[in-house]
Amino acid sequence: MESSNNSRDVRIKGLAASPGIAVGRVLRLDERGRHQFYYMEVSAQQARAEVKRLREAFAEARAQVKEIRSKLKGELGGQHEYILDAHLLMLEDKHLIGEAEREIRTLRINAEWAVRNVADRVAGAYRHIRDPYLRERASDIEDIATRLLTTLSGHARLNMSTLDRDVVIVAETLWPSTIGELDLNHVLGFATDTGGLTSHSAIIARAVGLPAVVGLREVTRNAQTGDAIIVDGTAGEVLLRPAKQGIRSYIEKRERDRARRLETSDGSTEPAVTIDDVRIKLRANVELPTEVESLSLFGAEGIGLYRSEFLFLNRLPELPAEEEQYDVYRRLAEATGDDGASIRVFDLGGDKLTLEGFEDEVNPALGLRAIRLSLKAREIFQTQVRAILRANSTGHLRIVLPLISTLGEVREAKQIIDEVKEELASSGVTYNPNLPVGVMIEVPAAALMADKFAREADFLSVGTNDLIQYLLAVDRANENVAYLYQPLHPAVLRTIAHLVRVAQKAQAPLELCGEMAASPIQAVALVGLGIRTLSLAPTSIPLVRNAIRSIDLSRLRPLLSEAVKLATTAEVEALLGKHLPRQAPQFFAALSSLG
Ligand code: PEP
Ligand code: MG
Repeated sequence: MESSNNSRDVRIKGLAASPGIAVGRVLRLDERGRHQFYYMEVSAQQARAEVKRLREAFAEARAQVKEIRSKLKGELGGQHEYILDAHLLMLEDKHLIGEAEREIRTLRINAEWAVRNVADRVAGAYRHIRDPYLRERASDIEDIATRLLTTLSGHARLNMSTLDRDVVIVAETLWPSTIGELDLNHVLGFATDTGGLTSHSAIIARAVGLPAVVGLREVTRNAQTGDAIIVDGTAGEVLLRPAKQGIRSYIEKRERDRARRLETSDGSTEPAVTIDDVRIKLRANVELPTEVESLSLFGAEGIGLYRSEFLFLNRLPELPAEEEQYDVYRRLAEATGDDGASIRVFDLGGDKLTLEGFEDEVNPALGLRAIRLSLKAREIFQTQVRAILRANSTGHLRIVLPLISTLGEVREAKQIIDEVKEELASSGVTYNPNLPVGVMIEVPAAALMADKFAREADFLSVGTNDLIQYLLAVDRANENVAYLYQPLHPAVLRTIAHLVRVAQKAQAPLELCGEMAASPIQAVALVGLGIRTLSLAPTSIPLVRNAIRSIDLSRLRPLLSEAVKLATTAEVEALLGKHLPRQAPQFFAALSSLG
């Protein structure tokens, strides 16, 4: 792996997205749109294959530009053709192609990295030219580099799923699809420029139990593939090119941290009961089918949220077929037995993947996402429902509808579910008609109207990740506004208190599956507000269970009643910070030593 000759060490603060410490070497992913690629050393034989890929990419890019040119000519006449002529000339430039091929052969690197290197060099040279017209050519070079990289990413590419050494992934953004593609056996941790604590890359990093720091803003600018790096996912910082002494002390810290985590995840399946004997149910949030094996290890009582859209990882535009879905859902049903599993129907869009043809929305968080997309792409929804109904052999699967804003959406979804049942029955297919349908409370309008939803849904599930995003109008994945993403904001606490009241009155089961449930302090606050079922990353269950076992609800309840009357998040934090350590001294002392 290439090593950086820049010995200056850099410390960058970000958001502590997934706890633990990783010490290793950087593998920097570069990115064009949603295509990510990275530097890789290749053998002489692979280099020949890379040269072939490069030539094919040039040929395809030329064909694309010619097609656009003739289309433009048809629409605008001939006068704008010269822009594309310039691109075509560059794509035909033997010197340029030859230089990229030479990079592959002599440096033994992948085609993507060769294109990036050559484009950076040529664009850099143009940028230094005084003549403004020629200087502008740098952006043309960028443009064709993007086209080539996109083209390369669409072809069979070097396989990121067979990394041959341990690396720390450094990227601008970590797309769930990239994580799905990586060989996680060789990934030690993640560091990204963008992202908030509930962005999906942070959620997956926690799910796979790897340390991660997000929202670093400038880590990709500072890091080179091969640099030494320390990711402190507990403190939320990254050290690039640290001195030997620093590396040693972090390795020691990593070992202490691991030992403490092992202590708390001792495989205990003691129930989460408060000192005054109130039982809290801890269920698991699951993204990857492989996590299912760890449920009993962490003592999860079934799956409270299966994020089914992760079935789309790495495969769009291809869709997961009914049989494949059936197998996965049946596995979930069997693994969770009587505790059961709630399958959240595809929650595509927003900051996740979306279906082909729906990618270009100006404001995806408010766009055609989640249930809105399922109701539009009806066949995909029907297929999913069919697979769930058929897989529910144990009778303990449930369906959850994401991002519901209106009762109309619930009724329409239920009608589709009924139609699928009828269709299965009339064609003689075996299925289980008993499938409770829950509504996720993630939109403020749904929270305000929860009494109405409680009557038509079999249960309510509060998705605080999105609920906070929409309540406080703060993008959950945007590091620039991460300071405003405040789970303990009094408005959030009041909304949850309202939901608890409404659900109790309607006698509707209420659970909560946002990331708040995975933070011991916030989880305790939720219990104090009256939530009795939490669903969280399996790896966080032991810590949250310990927190719950250390509190006395009769003392916690009045604390939360006071918290909802406060005016600011800082006041809430100060109140909890003062009283929780007094109420559960041992647990909170241990917790602060983890940081
Ligand atoms: C939520 O929004 O709280 C939630 C659980 O769903 P997701 O994080 O997948 O959007
Ligand atoms: Mg959500």
